[in-house]
Amino acid sequence: MKKQISLLALLCTASGAYAESAPKNVIYMIGDGMGPAYTTAYRYFKDDPATKEVEGTVFDTILKGMAHTYPDDHTYVTDSAAGATALSSGHKSYNGAIAVDTEKKPVRTMLEIAKERGMTTALVATSQINHATPASFAAHNESRNNYDEIANDYIDNKIAGKLPVDLMLGGGTQYFIRDDRNLVNEFKGAGYQYGDDIKNLGQITQLPAIGLYAPKGLPFALDENSTRLTQLTSTALNLLDNQNKNGFFVMIEASQIDWCGHANDIACAMAEMDDFAKSIEKAKAYVDKNKDTILVVTADHSTGGLTLGAHGQYKWEKEVVKGIKATAGKLTGLLMDSDNLKSIWTTNTNIEYTTENQIKLEQAKKMGEKALNLAIKSIISDTSFTGWTTGGHTAIDVQVFAYGKGSEQFIGSQNNTDIADKLIGFIEK
Ligand SMILES: [Zn+2]
Repeated sequence: MKKQISLLALLCTASGAYAESAPKNVIYMIGDGMGPAYTTAYRYFKDDPATKEVEGTVFDTILKGMAHTYPDDHTYVTDSAAGATALSSGHKSYNGAIAVDTEKKPVRTMLEIAKERGMTTALVATSQINHATPASFAAHNESRNNYDEIANDYIDNKIAGKLPVDLMLGGGTQYFIRDDRNLVNEFKGAGYQYGDDIKNLGQITQLPAIGLYAPKGLPFALDENSTRLTQLTSTALNLLDNQNKNGFFVMIEASQIDWCGHANDIACAMAEMDDFAKSIEKAKAYVDKNKDTILVVTADHSTGGLTLGAHGQYKWEKEVVKGIKATAGKLTGLLMDSDNLKSIWTTNTNIEYTTENQIKLEQAKKMGEKALNLAIKSIISDTSFTGWTTGGHTAIDVQVFAYGKGSEQFIGSQNNTDIADKLIGFIEK
């Protein structure tokens, strides 16, 4: 693939068209854990039962290719840190690596290159903003678990004398306001606006700015605010628009598709997918108005081994999934705290409270929270014919979506590092 890019670059340089074809703004969106089964499930989930055909989704309108996700440690199965390091820098590394190579030496990320080139830079996530994926764009650490050190990097990792990221929106107050160091005050001292109320995103009126809307990750889309990433995406694009003649780079992560996948919770995952799809619609609309922008959407890996169809049955029951009003985690809490299991169950799901389900839930509740949580998820998966192979990640290829100027470069089968190399090529234009 590398050969192909350089050939393309050569051809374009020869014709003088490369600089012209390089977009000014880069919108890079990552669905953490969003393997192909997630976008397929989402299409059926959104299918209009009144029509014969299955309608396409926003993902179908911009699909370009596939990417290989394996890390540099012979496991084939990547974590989000190695995945994001590949996607941010073009370097494969070991699981846990935050923008460092296998020797634990820092590698340059596209956000850093963008900052060096005078572009405005931004990170948006529904996890804490110092979680593995956003961290791999603006910090360097041998371990994703060093959350405080990673947060420190957002101040200390100066690029050409400046702070690396002009706009950060996500969660993570507990890592930024600490006894040993109050990074929020340091950001304010450096001229950043600070926002802490997601219901009042208008608190932030100009750059640079940081908005931290939860102690760690934001609440799940299914449990609280179903469009919080969409709102953060709009806020970011409004703030970034026309700020800088050199353009902007923004990475927007739908962080919690992965968390729902780890939990093997299909309703949770579909709500995250819906918020992500709406965010992508916003980004696409931005590209329509600003033609010198590239939008790339991909995933770092798939999570949970999700599949549609189980137990030898030829069906997937999306109406069951659509009927679930809370994550299994929240439902567990509600059932633990109530003596009327039937009422909680029928208010939050459309799954019949059969004697079999009643016995399963009552027995699990006696064994405790963990058993109850597993029982809830097994009823939901069995009734909807949703399959899961693991509580971890899987090594299958992920999709690459692109839209706007230069999007044709993402057609076909490629490595995750190729996505980074192509985007870095645009940034270094
Ligand atoms: Zn994960």
